[in-house]
Amino acid sequence: MLEVPTTETRPVLSLDMTRMTKLLSLDEANGIAVIECGANGRELEVALNAKGYTMGHEPDSYEFSTLGGWVSTAASGMKRSRYGNIEDMILNCDLVTAPDGVVHRRLLARARSSHGPEVQSLLFGSEGNFGVIVTASVKVHKLASRQNYGAYGKKQAHGKGALPSRGSRSAWISLAAGRAITWHSC
Ligand SMILES: Cc1cc2nc3c(=O)[nH]c(=O)nc-3n(C[C@H](O)[C@H](O)[C@H](O)COP(=O)(O)OP(=O)(O)OC[C@H]3O[C@@H](n4cnc5c(N)ncnc54)[C@H](O)[C@@H]3O)c2cc1C
Repeated sequence: MLEVPTTETRPVLSLDMTRMTKLLSLDEANGIAVIECGANGRELEVALNAKGYTMGHEPDSYEFSTLGGWVSTAASGMKRSRYGNIEDMILNCDLVTAPDGVVHRRLLARARSSHGPEVQSLLFGSEGNFGVIVTASVKVHKLASRQNYGAYGKKQAHGKGALPSRGSRSAWISLAAGRAITWHSC
């Protein structure tokens, strides 16, 4: 629930996007999905996984945070070394601006240009200041046919096969509190 400080004099708007979660289209030839920006990480991956695809963006808040929120906060996920940060994944966004509710389509022209600063990229980390991001075109990847997860602590530090073998593609490896290592390869 949104709680506004009693001393706040400015208008405060709370926008519920929980019904804007649809996978609108999937272009398999080009690896592009168009998704509504109220979708949280789980909703978005369930829809993509059902068609054999993933976006590969997994911030720790993935079950609660949304596609629109990721763009607005320039989010970074656990699998960034494999799939990149959010700004590497977004191809286009549609933005609705106040006060008239104008829909600006295809805001991020991701084709390379030499026309000076890329003002569209201001959306990354904009925290909702320019408008509401309603849909986004994102890069998607085929799900790996096999995925491995693992973890090991001090006792198994020398255990054979504990870590992903040389040549396998790791999406992330993390060292937790200097004591345990977890990994995911796919
Ligand atoms: C436990 C925990 C773990 C986290 N882990 C990570 C992590 O691994 N990586 C990381 O980068 N961040 C992480 N975060 C921070 C946070 O989850 C991210 O910043 C996330 O991207 C916010 O998305 P949200 O949908 O929750 O946005 P909100 O928190 O609801 O909003 C964040 C800002 O974006 C704006 N906004 C939201 N949706 C839209 C929209 N559709 N259009 C325009 N503006 C919008 C809001 O107005 C606000 O200014 C974590 C947070 C928590 C609590």
